[in-house]
Amino acid sequence: MNAEYEAVIGLEIHVQLSTKTKMFCGCELSFGDDPNVHTCPVCLALPGVLPVPNEQAVRYALQIGAALGCELSPVSTFDRKNYFYPDNPKAYQITQAANPFAVNGQLGEVRIHHAHLEEDAAKTIHTGGGGRISGSDASLVDFNRGGTPLVEIVTEPDLRSGAQVREWGQLLRATIKQLGVSDVNMEEGSLRCDANISVRPAGSETLGTKTELKNMNSFRFIERGIEAEIARQMEIVSAGGQVVQETLHFDPGTGELHSLRSKEEAHDYRYLPEPDLVPVVPTQAMFDAAKNSLPELPAARAARYKELGVSEQAALLLSFETDWAGYFEGVMAADASIDPRVAANWVTGEFAAELRKQDDQPLTEAKVTPAGLATLISLVADRKISHGAGKTVLEEMVASGAEPVTVVAEKGLEQISDSGELEKIVIQAIEDNPKPAEQIRAGNEKAIGALVGAVMKATQGRADGGEVNRLLRQHLGI
Ligand SMILES: [Zn+2]
Repeated sequence: MNAEYEAVIGLEIHVQLSTKTKMFCGCELSFGDDPNVHTCPVCLALPGVLPVPNEQAVRYALQIGAALGCELSPVSTFDRKNYFYPDNPKAYQITQAANPFAVNGQLGEVRIHHAHLEEDAAKTIHTGGGGRISGSDASLVDFNRGGTPLVEIVTEPDLRSGAQVREWGQLLRATIKQLGVSDVNMEEGSLRCDANISVRPAGSETLGTKTELKNMNSFRFIERGIEAEIARQMEIVSAGGQVVQETLHFDPGTGELHSLRSKEEAHDYRYLPEPDLVPVVPTQAMFDAAKNSLPELPAARAARYKELGVSEQAALLLSFETDWAGYFEGVMAADASIDPRVAANWVTGEFAAELRKQDDQPLTEAKVTPAGLATLISLVADRKISHGAGKTVLEEMVASGAEPVTVVAEKGLEQISDSGELEKIVIQAIEDNPKPAEQIRAGNEKAIGALVGAVMKATQGRADGGEVNRLLRQHLGI
């Protein structure tokens, strides 16, 4: 990246709320049904209908605002955002512009400008020649999604790179998932992220011309799309050129950016107050419920795990996935004597890797119980089996669900605790490998690896590494 310039990135994130019904009518919300089965005069915008706000959506929105550390507005109001497109039968979208329900928050290192409630547009499907209307190009509209409650979260331009956006996006997703107010499934579109990107000379306070990168369906693609756009803009400004304000699409297949349209200015939408809806004035009980119902959120959980001594990486992995956090807590609860750092490393390291290796087993279907894994960790920690043998046992546990003690007995993996027996093997290894033994005595301590390997091979990994090292050094006289 060019050191003379820095990137400035702000995000607009749309979160579909998982209420039972739509934002302003009683139509059911469901994903994957036949098109246009969940519609009514309100969400189809037939003349004379009036919207009625969904109270559950307001409650969910307040929870999101509270989780993002926002000030919750005592009064928020709806506005009309005017635009003409087939996915929008009223020719305006009901949103909150002047008085959003939540302002001035912060999540991690990123400030939240505000969060507002709005309704989603219908879904347009553009067929090619081979589409549903055979032999013709057509645009079809599915109104099932039209009117779905959305919370749009708008950040301050506090992000500086694609990687930072991915990491922060994952924190945001985990936080909202924890609230249980949205599926936050990016592939199904219940979490959508647009990025505003500009570059400026490093240290400058003014913002450069921004482009908007739209609708990417995974944080990994977002990271790549943003990096590609930053590189493109830096090349332009380095050459003395001007970035053009436009909306872009990133194709993860080719790694290319395409222009969708030149960006509308905000005033093109002619926002005006929605006359059909009274202001939203939540009761004190609703505010209290939103704040008091907050579970332990990922950022707080990561901090707590780090306090327990868990490594930064493992703490983040566990905190972002509630299933994994639950599993880790289960291991800790099964045996209080286990070191949390060691347990977290087993859960996020060897155990996760073994699940991936065996047909990508989801954690929820794992045959190994937290108590079973706790037993295994204790066996290794108490030096009943070596770390290497522990991995062998885990492999069998994940495959068959067997108890660790049974696997250890069946495979004869108990660590050699008889130091006399181990000593004989060590002496034999030195005799069988005169060359490394000589090198070690001559001062090349690194050569000891070959002898440790020989002992481990002879004992099939059943020897304690530290003890092997000690005995080797003793008999080599170093
Ligand atoms: Zn409806």
